[in-house]
Amino acid sequence: MAQPIVDTSKLCIHTITTKPWPIETAIERFSAHGVGGMTIWRDALTGRDIAATGQRIRDAGMAVVSLCRGGFFPAETDVARQAAIDDNHRAIDEAAALGAPLIVLVCGAVPKQPLPLSRQQIQDGIESILDHAASVGVKLAIEPLHPMYADSRSAINTLRQANDACAAIDSPWVGVAVDVYHLWWDPDLEAQIQRCGAMGKLFAFHICDWRTPTEDLLNDRGLMGEGSIPVRQIRGWVEQTGFNGFNEVEIFSNRYWAGDQEAFLAKIVDAYLNHS
Ligand code: ZN
Repeated sequence: MAQPIVDTSKLCIHTITTKPWPIETAIERFSAHGVGGMTIWRDALTGRDIAATGQRIRDAGMAVVSLCRGGFFPAETDVARQAAIDDNHRAIDEAAALGAPLIVLVCGAVPKQPLPLSRQQIQDGIESILDHAASVGVKLAIEPLHPMYADSRSAINTLRQANDACAAIDSPWVGVAVDVYHLWWDPDLEAQIQRCGAMGKLFAFHICDWRTPTEDLLNDRGLMGEGSIPVRQIRGWVEQTGFNGFNEVEIFSNRYWAGDQEAFLAKIVDAYLNHS
């Protein structure tokens, strides 16, 4: 089991967690609470000078941890697959401008397409953008998603599959984002976290909790401590690999987005210190 967390220096919050706030407000309020880093969702950058926004985050004393998200490579036509690749090239340029060292990939799936074919298209897609990513110093993290999203969001649903994809691609620029929401149920999780770390592929760690009942498959994530996920135990497995990056709070929640974001931020910091 990991040691308790004593401060917020390794706390990173995703902009989508406080979606009602414009990014400028999030920067100011996160910084005021001593948050150490931010992961930026691309929608938060709409209409902004991306480089200036990255500088604003660093000037506020925080790290730009990653850009969310690239991916969605599988598609039924060559034209659609190329459009996805083009969008990933744009994401790489945005990450470079922002000063983000990493892009999180939600890899994609197509409802009536066999999962192995989607996985091959994911590998082909990642390989086609690798040189560009490497040329600007931006790494790519495959995020395995919970199998309930295997129809349309990701054909990569376990950490074993993500590790296997990394092994097949075999590039220092490609690794994994471990998200407890997607992986906590997996009996192979501890062993696959060890394998991921031993491969040098554990690039990011996302936390939240699994509520019962989950009322929305996408937007009903809980604060750490509200649900079933042994967040501290999983953090211990991650840290045993030598990972010393940020603990990234990524919560999509209609219920929290509907409330006061300042009160929610205080709850996030409390849950982080006491239940992570
Ligand atoms: Zn995540």
